[in-house]
Amino acid sequence: MAPRPPGRGLTDGIRLFPYVGPPTLAEAARTQPPGTPARTRADLSAWLGARPPAEHDEPFTYTVGADGVLRLAPRRSEHVACAGGEPVGAAGEIAFVRAADGWMVDEADNLSTGYCPDPDCWTVLAAALDTIGVGRPDAFTRSVVFRRCPRCGERNVVRDGYFTCALCDADLPSEWNFA
Ligand SMILES: [Zn+2]
Repeated sequence: MAPRPPGRGLTDGIRLFPYVGPPTLAEAARTQPPGTPARTRADLSAWLGARPPAEHDEPFTYTVGADGVLRLAPRRSEHVACAGGEPVGAAGEIAFVRAADGWMVDEADNLSTGYCPDPDCWTVLAAALDTIGVGRPDAFTRSVVFRRCPRCGERNVVRDGYFTCALCDADLPSEWNFA
């Protein structure tokens, strides 16, 4: 098999979202362990099986890196820590339920105020889950719309289609604008 040309890989074309949260959190994340990679069903089962039962009551923190690999961390872990400080292809919260043959995804969203990823990052998460071979929904069970306020810089979650900054009342743009 011919070697792959430099810079070309299976995950070329992943749209990456840089960290846009408070620098203090990114700094603190340097001392925290990155998320656990789940490349296979065995990886996933091992990690989920090792969670204390109480942790299963809440969704977990996930990121998908430029390598297309799903990484998992307990809830309330910062996404920037989970991702090892790197840009992400997708980030949010994910919940699993037991299925006949292991686990399947029950809920997933793109709720990461550190990365504010566009909901179209679903395709990246879906690809990572399909690589593992775990059952999943057809779309995010909750999609979060993030916009940066062009006036004051606040990171906003747009609720009910109301494109107005929660802090200064400025209009928010219709397109994702963290890049
Ligand atoms: Zn504002």
